[in-house]
Amino acid sequence: MDAAALHSAKPVRTRSNEIQKKNQMTVFSTESFADHEQVVFISDDKIGLRAIIAIHSTRLGPALGGCRMYPYADEASALRDVLRLSRGMTFKAAAAGLGLGGGKSVILGDPRKSKTPDLLRAMGVAVNRLGGRYITAEDVGTTVDDFAWVRQSTRHVVGLPEALGGTGDPSPTTALGVYHGIVASVAHRLGCGLQGLTVAVQGLGNVGWNLCRLLDEAGARLVVCDVDPALAARAAAEFDACIVEPDAIYAVQADVFAPCAMGAVVNDKTLPQMRFRVIAGGANNQLARDEHGRQLREREILYAPDFVINAGGLIRVASEHEGFDAAKVDAQVKGIGATLRRIFELADRDGTPTQSAAMRLVQERLGSTGRPGGAAANNNTNERPLAERIA
Ligand code: NAD
Repeated sequence: MDAAALHSAKPVRTRSNEIQKKNQMTVFSTESFADHEQVVFISDDKIGLRAIIAIHSTRLGPALGGCRMYPYADEASALRDVLRLSRGMTFKAAAAGLGLGGGKSVILGDPRKSKTPDLLRAMGVAVNRLGGRYITAEDVGTTVDDFAWVRQSTRHVVGLPEALGGTGDPSPTTALGVYHGIVASVAHRLGCGLQGLTVAVQGLGNVGWNLCRLLDEAGARLVVCDVDPALAARAAAEFDACIVEPDAIYAVQADVFAPCAMGAVVNDKTLPQMRFRVIAGGANNQLARDEHGRQLREREILYAPDFVINAGGLIRVASEHEGFDAAKVDAQVKGIGATLRRIFELADRDGTPTQSAAMRLVQERLGSTGRPGGAAANNNTNERPLAERIA
């Protein structure tokens, strides 16, 4: 066959190459890959470690983000997850006014079966090789205590147990930031405080439980759900909360919906059921698609962008990096409310979804393109929070 014929020849479709294509893992064409400064694949057969570290951006400082351990269905799912999450960390750190970039890591495996001190130490070695460009911390499937093992191989770790000079579990601080965010959202949308309002809380884990406590103290009525019925029963006893089945939470009559379990809970199926006036909670990636942000605006449901409202834990662990200062952390976490107020004003002024307004603020801080700026961390560590800076 000559070159022209070869060029124009159509690829032969056979069942075997169709199957091969379906099972093929793409790397460079994976969504979000191009935005990344660096992606590192780690494999240690002897210890059983398979992990990916993704550094999305070091434009504002070293890339900080948790290390998730999860039994992913396949390698492609793990890659997609780590890329999506590390990108989100860039936005979260920028919105919180921190001198940090965005990164994340994932360990492929079941934390209940395969998490060993050797594996955690090996992960620390991999983090250490990056020389501080990536700083790790706890995430889903890893705990604050696990990082005592990681710390044996690297100093580039935060969110350590208090006994090791860390600040311990960041979840109560995440919940406090979400609480301030709910107060700001309710004030903007309803012009009142939380006393007597009904808040539907989805998920009663580390963040959800602490949030329920703060809401209860503020005089809000609670409707709760969790896939663990024992947790829901405890919330009923402790906060006089009304329990609903997990699937029923979207249609509950409540002023505020606070998703504190998993992502993509605002989607084509749930959105038509919602009669809330505010959605403000701790879960990451709450909107299944950007389109849902527009639909929420049309339905006059005020949405507090997740990466802004749930930054409290990040603010706390980041403070370990610079030297923990409780008063400064408190002020920064309270500042989440001020940042949201500014985002809501921008969104109202321009008639855009709040998520888009939040992204505009982030892009302004990152530079006009919002893309990572190369390996060199700049010295913006003292930049003020966005809300303060653009007010
Ligand atoms: P967690 O695992 O402690 O709690 C999650 C809770 O949600 C569990 O009790 C679980 O049983 C429940 N749950 C799971 N699926 C559910 C469903 N379909 N319906 C109702 N309940 C369900 O996790 P967490 O640390 O509290 O984090 C909650 C969310 O907040 C996650 O999306 C996490 O990524 C995000 N987040 C957490 C932090 C933090 O500091 N912990 C920081 C930022 C974001």
